Amino acid sequence: MDTFALSELGLPQDEVLRLMREARANDADWKAGRVWSMVYYAKELSEFKKQVYSEFIYENGLGPMTFRCLRKFENEVVAMTARMLGGDAAVAGSLTSGGSESILMAVKSARDRAREERPEIPEPELLLPASAHPAFDKAAHYLGLRSVKIPLTTALKPDLRRARELIGPSTVMMVGSAFDYPFGGVDPIRELAAIAAEHDVWFHVDSCMGGFLLPWVRKLGYPVPAFDFSVPGVTSISADVHKFGFAAKGASVVLYRDASLRRHQYFVETEWSGGLYGTPTLTGARPGGAIATAWAVMRHLGEEGYLRLAKGMMETRDRMLAAIRAIPELRVLGDPAATVFAFTSDVLSPFELADLMSARGWYVERQHLPPAVHLMVTPAHAEVCDAFLVDLREAVGRAKTGGATDLSDVSAMYGMVGTLPDRSQARDVALEVLGGIYSL
Ligand SMILES: *Cc1c(COP(=O)(O)O)cnc(C)c1O
Repeated sequence: MDTFALSELGLPQDEVLRLMREARANDADWKAGRVWSMVYYAKELSEFKKQVYSEFIYENGLGPMTFRCLRKFENEVVAMTARMLGGDAAVAGSLTSGGSESILMAVKSARDRAREERPEIPEPELLLPASAHPAFDKAAHYLGLRSVKIPLTTALKPDLRRARELIGPSTVMMVGSAFDYPFGGVDPIRELAAIAAEHDVWFHVDSCMGGFLLPWVRKLGYPVPAFDFSVPGVTSISADVHKFGFAAKGASVVLYRDASLRRHQYFVETEWSGGLYGTPTLTGARPGGAIATAWAVMRHLGEEGYLRLAKGMMETRDRMLAAIRAIPELRVLGDPAATVFAFTSDVLSPFELADLMSARGWYVERQHLPPAVHLMVTPAHAEVCDAFLVDLREAVGRAKTGGATDLSDVSAMYGMVGTLPDRSQARDVALEVLGGIYSL
């Protein structure tokens, strides 16, 4: 019998719910702060978000003239984000499903402007720091651009001298991160934007992580270099409401310095039997729940709410950074500006440490260039960070005495993939792993 063919008769709703809760039972306990990535949980917002999301679950953002409320929410989320990021009334943008879509749209707009203004470029190039998010490489891959990487300095910031060498007649877009995902550092945005402007190249700031955090972190008195529309030469910015904006997943903003730049993003088809069809972004149907929740959370939190959440998270990350820096075997990488950072070790294997932490019930991310453990602090971590640090010290002690057993599959893969001399082999391994994950 084929267990994946639809059964003739469906299951009762409570039985379906029971099965789903059972499926989830062994997953990571993100509510208890066990996961150090991917989940942005602020308990105070939880019930409110569920209520808003479910109230708007049927509305479809594909129809802004039918669902005028969604049009209002969307335009206001974009406008509020623009103000927050130093934009004036000319700044225009769109609400997308996430950082990857925002980035895809910005890359498409830069490519299409270049096609219009510089049609002689045979193979357009996207110039980005090695630490910039792979969503840019993905966009380049989808849109027929070549991505060219700016190497990092020993301080793990893009090398400006190399950037000046690598920008050329085929460069149609250049990127900086504020902040970058791997190390949480803010790139020298002013300097990068100046290089781009000198060559009349589109400059995008990826603030997917930092956009809803850095303005408040700066207000709290931490040093944050200028990274938004206040910097001359910045053409577009991406900022995820579903990360530190604390919206439900499925909400990000892409902003352009003016509406003429955003026009390159749009798609219309005028010759379809089904009527005039036009969408601002990649997707067709768009979830009303995600759009409404983004608006609701921004209106509810306001500046006071975001500042308060940022203050709590920064206190947690200060405690953690101080404690990790006090462990002689560990070394924090680069210069983290906010709540995201990574640490490595010159004497122990970071992958072994990650495994030892996994064995203690903590879900941490692994990075491989260089090998490191990656952490993202959210409000869920305030109460567990001390317990995490106790376990981390214990894990370091254990790794020092060679107490660890074999590496886990994921750590072994990282250890292997990071050191393969032929990078096309690394690619094959990664594709194989991906195929394996998405099989029954
Ligand atoms: C998360 C992230 C992205 C991609 O966003 P998604 O919402 O995962 O698609 C891009 N850039 C940075 C810096 C990010 O942290």
